[in-house]
Amino acid sequence: MKPKSLGGKVYLVGAGPGDPALLTLRAVRLLEKADVVVYDHLVSSAVLGFVAQTAERIYAGKRRNEHTMRQEQINALLVKLAQEGKQVVRLKGGDPFIFGRGGEELETLAAHDVPFEVVPGVTAASGVSSYAGIPLTHRDHAQSCLFVTGHLKDGTADLDWPNMVRPNQTVVIYMGLGGLPEICRQMMLHGASPSLPIAVVQDGSIATQKVVTGTLADMPERVAKAGLKSPCLTLIGNVVKLHHTLAWYKPDSSDKTADGTNAPVSLRLEEMVNV
Ligand code: SAH
Repeated sequence: MKPKSLGGKVYLVGAGPGDPALLTLRAVRLLEKADVVVYDHLVSSAVLGFVAQTAERIYAGKRRNEHTMRQEQINALLVKLAQEGKQVVRLKGGDPFIFGRGGEELETLAAHDVPFEVVPGVTAASGVSSYAGIPLTHRDHAQSCLFVTGHLKDGTADLDWPNMVRPNQTVVIYMGLGGLPEICRQMMLHGASPSLPIAVVQDGSIATQKVVTGTLADMPERVAKAGLKSPCLTLIGNVVKLHHTLAWYKPDSSDKTADGTNAPVSLRLEEMVNV
């Protein structure tokens, strides 16, 4: 017989892209009352500031090539903690159902009859594009928006390129920094204009935010020159042209040390995640 969970429960909570002001009210309340918080790289220290002093914090990691805990270990840990009767917050950057493997964690919980709840968060596409002043849709430029992961297996391109180059859409690429040269090359090979605008945003919504814009033809070089580091979100499409007019967020340089680290909202976002 499966063990009962003694009143324990797992809350799969989205932490948003970094700025703690983008947490939902539900997320803040749950962080305040959790017995234990299991969090990823992608979660900022400012967000962790809402966790009660008395709560246990468990870092589950997950940077590319350096997985602190394997996914199966995380799944098993969540089950164990809930079965001990704990109120567990499983905290993930952005939204837990968008490139967050949240569904897999819930499947394990369901298989063990552990009760759970999902609290959505502001996903990077939405939060980062807002702070970069790049609308995802716009009547003149894009009638649809595609979210894809650019984490290319062994450098090979298994994205749906014909779909990626359709006109009048915005393509948002998560985890695409390493694959950027290949992504630009493949899009041009599949018929996209070399002058199609593209932006890469590092550390969206926090003090170390950087936005680099260019075209499919020159972006790999620009990004390399700018020395961008993970996490970065890539946005491709004519909406990127609006950045120059709509960029409202001025990352506060007074919050930073000379190398851009140690801002009070101090996830140096490379601290945060897998490319
Ligand atoms: N569940 C998350 C995505 C996890 S995948 C969400 O909904 O946002 C991790 C990728 O998200 C990163 O590689 C990067 O592409 C993107 N990302 C998350 N936060 C970001 C931020 N603050 N700035 C730029 N990109 C970010």
